[in-house]
Amino acid sequence: MKVLYPGSFDPLTNGHLDLIMRASDLFGEVVVAVLENPAKIAAFSLERRLQQIRIATKHIKDIKIISFTGLTVKCAKDEQVNVILRGLRALSDFEYELQIAHTNRTLDGDLETIFLATQAHHSFLSSSVVKEVARFGGETSHMVPEIISKDLQKLFE
Ligand code: ADP
Repeated sequence: MKVLYPGSFDPLTNGHLDLIMRASDLFGEVVVAVLENPAKIAAFSLERRLQQIRIATKHIKDIKIISFTGLTVKCAKDEQVNVILRGLRALSDFEYELQIAHTNRTLDGDLETIFLATQAHHSFLSSSVVKEVARFGGETSHMVPEIISKDLQKLFE
């Protein structure tokens, strides 16, 4: 089965990576779809985010990394995927994720959203927290893949 894992990934964290690896084991093929959102200023350019993910996932087979703008449901249709994967860290994610899943369902009735719970030791991780730590000169090498830790250091030096 093929699943679509959409997100901003600004940047990818070990939590995202863990989800991708588990989804790959469970479902076979994972399409990681990086959102280009013109309404949001990203820390890393779309091209850099794609590169970071390519490098960090090169050990995973049957993975495709793409970018998209606009609706996730449109991206899923274009990629011929019927299942969207999202991660749940805590109750606070749940309300927002459920709202999106219901909305997507109204836009495309064939589309399913499935959720994987994060591993407890990754549940505190978010792209925002990682950027905050890096901005103030903190160590991020245990939170993100090596290439991204280096990029974060450069970004804020
Ligand atoms: P978005 O901007 O679409 O929320 P993110 O890049 O922040 O995109 O996250 C993409 C998906 O990954 C979301 O479903 C989010 O809940 C999930 N996610 C974020 N952080 C983690 C984590 N530490 N562990 C597992 N899943 C996560």
